[in-house]
Amino acid sequence: MTIFDVLIPSPLVWSAVLIYGALIGSFLNVVIHRVPREESIAWPGSRCPHCMTALSWKDNIPLLSFVLLKGRCRSCQASISGRYPLVEALNAGLYVALLAAFGPTLQFLALAALASMLLAIFWIDLDTMYILNVLTYPGIALGIAYGGLIEGRWLPTLAAAAAGYALFWLISEGSRLYLKAIKSIHEDGMGMGDAKLAAMMGAWLGPERLVVALFASFLLGSIIGLALKARSGKSEPFPFGPALVIGTFASLFAGESIWRWYMGFLVG
Ligand SMILES: [Zn+2]
Repeated sequence: MTIFDVLIPSPLVWSAVLIYGALIGSFLNVVIHRVPREESIAWPGSRCPHCMTALSWKDNIPLLSFVLLKGRCRSCQASISGRYPLVEALNAGLYVALLAAFGPTLQFLALAALASMLLAIFWIDLDTMYILNVLTYPGIALGIAYGGLIEGRWLPTLAAAAAGYALFWLISEGSRLYLKAIKSIHEDGMGMGDAKLAAMMGAWLGPERLVVALFASFLLGSIIGLALKARSGKSEPFPFGPALVIGTFASLFAGESIWRWYMGFLVG
């Protein structure tokens, strides 16, 4: 019980969290676009990617500007990718969902930061097939601090982070040897970016919710893999990071009930 727990979220708090989430979502669009290109996220300001005209503040308001401009650049009329308002809406929606699930607590603030890091990892992996160390390394460090200081369990936190990494290291080595053995042209199976993301998940989630998250991720990954194979007739490499991110959110919001249901199922 902290001082925050006694504060019941008022409409003002809900609105503030929604606006804050959309603003951070707008910043995430910059991160997703520029970090893989090794460009500065601080300078220059946002531009139309088509005509390079700098955006004025009123054309750069999260969600609202997209609607007011009807999805087109004011200068060149090129259509603006629906990805921008989508990322803003997703980030705002996740913050509101986290506030509903965890209340106005320190836990909420920390998990909001996690949610934004995961959204950036999700889109960058979809775009580039890379999970960047500049996101996972701070993610692991913050996750260990969160598990140790806020959830008060250092050892399970560290163990889950190590287990997540070790599992994907084994999968990576195994798939590399397998692909080499069958002389596949795809040299990489599962990359080490996935192992670092799994370590990050372990740190934030702890052992029980990590198991739930990985289970959900592999289930989702299999469905995506089968769907792609059905479409193209052969096995295609696809980024696994987005499945891990969705598994993490599933575990974050419903992990404990899934775990209890599962254990009840096992114990009978
Ligand atoms: Zn333009």
